[in-house]
Amino acid sequence: MTSSIRFAQRMSREILNLFPRLGAARILRQWTGSYDVSPDNSPILGGVDALPEFYLACGYSGHGLMISPKVGEMMADLIAKNEKDSLLGNFELGRFEKTEGPRKETLLIG
Ligand SMILES: Cc1cc2nc3c(=O)[nH]c(=O)nc-3n(C[C@H](O)[C@H](O)[C@H](O)COP(=O)(O)OP(=O)(O)OC[C@H]3O[C@@H](n4cnc5c(N)ncnc54)[C@H](O)[C@@H]3O)c2cc1C
Repeated sequence: MTSSIRFAQRMSREILNLFPRLGAARILRQWTGSYDVSPDNSPILGGVDALPEFYLACGYSGHGLMISPKVGEMMADLIAKNEKDSLLGNFELGRFEKTEGPRKETLLIG
């Protein structure tokens, strides 16, 4: 819940691996904030069997901005046209009720 030099150092290393030219950039400040995390670190998307016309799009576990364009399209098609993208099957609430349990995604920052 607080900013730290350790985080800035680790992220700087990661970013420089991808974009070496950012080595000349100066960090002026950083912010912190909490985000929602699901039990398997993957979003919960789609309808809820027990509640008709109730939809979930949450539990993004820190990936919500990145995947929002595709999630927005899929959720719009589901709600407005009742068309279910095959990807949605992997992210439904019901996966937590399966005996083998969901596959856990590894978070970059734990
Ligand atoms: C520090 C941090 C770093 C992140 N980094 C990344 C990243 O690098 N890449 C990435 O993809 N994602 C990242 N995320 C996650 C991303 O920000 C979220 O997954 C995404 O914003 C979730 O979108 P959302 O629309 O579901 O919820 P939100 O963006 O939280 O929007 C919910 C909205 O609903 C409003 N609201 C709440 N309650 C009510 C109410 N009762 N009535 C009316 N309005 C209400 C809130 O004010 C808010 O505007 C990060 C999040 C944090 C906190």
